[in-house]
Amino acid sequence: MTLPIIHHPEYMANLNPTHRFPMSKYGYLREALIERKLLVDDPALNPEPANAEMLIQAHDPAYVARALNESLTNEEIKRIGLPQTEQIIRRARFAAAGTLLAAHHALESGIACNAAGGSHHARFEHGAGYCVFNDVAVAVRALQAESAANRILIIDCDVHQGDGTAAIFTADRNVLTVSLHAEKNFPFRKVASDLDVPLEDGMGDEAYLIALHRALSQASLAGPFDLIFYNAGVDVHESDRLGRLSLTDGGIRARDAAVFDWAKTRNEPIASVLGGGYGSDPSTIAQRHVIMFEEAAKRI
Ligand SMILES: [Zn+2]
Repeated sequence: MTLPIIHHPEYMANLNPTHRFPMSKYGYLREALIERKLLVDDPALNPEPANAEMLIQAHDPAYVARALNESLTNEEIKRIGLPQTEQIIRRARFAAAGTLLAAHHALESGIACNAAGGSHHARFEHGAGYCVFNDVAVAVRALQAESAANRILIIDCDVHQGDGTAAIFTADRNVLTVSLHAEKNFPFRKVASDLDVPLEDGMGDEAYLIALHRALSQASLAGPFDLIFYNAGVDVHESDRLGRLSLTDGGIRARDAAVFDWAKTRNEPIASVLGGGYGSDPSTIAQRHVIMFEEAAKRI
């Protein structure tokens, strides 16, 4: 069986290559996944862009309308940190629908990956930190509306805290949010997840994996789950430009393996999303992201 990898060419929008957000990593990632014969050409794995109806399940309808009409205020645009262009907004719509499609495939096959997503800073009423729409939140709300999944776990291992996701699900007892993140990093005002694991600067593979195993054991107590979302951001890497942790490529591989194995042992479907990864060489970042797909492919 082939690992379902959700992808769309519009995951990559035009953006000035000098921008701090390494947009071209999505193109390099696509190439790298094709080269490794992981990404297959199958229209069933290409999402349609999320529409307003879907987006307003997780976001303020007024915010969604402004984003779709490209009439966000300067303050809103500044907070997102990406220019307001048709492509940037469409890209966020594709990513959100892609995460939902990955979830549907995970419910069928046990495991599936979206080659975008992880926009965990986007809140109900605004975007933030390169995140326009919170793709995981949009997917969760759609799954709840379809009654496709009731109890859902979100494991966020991006180096930044999942503040937007935590805020959106703060009152939802059926959605458990877990965030492992560098304590001193953005966002500086964090929103409490159901389980937060703040990590010290410079933490390496061994200590990180101990913290991860502990968090997974704690999360077990709230299960069983109908579905798990996993944000596999690679900004935990020692050479990441925005991270503060010191994981190696091997550490990231062990992390991804641990999360996927944990889900498999529990017989719970898992859908992973890309998350962050920053640096001056987008092709190197893309190679780090490939690790998650390789580890998922071993477990299909
Ligand atoms: Zn991040």
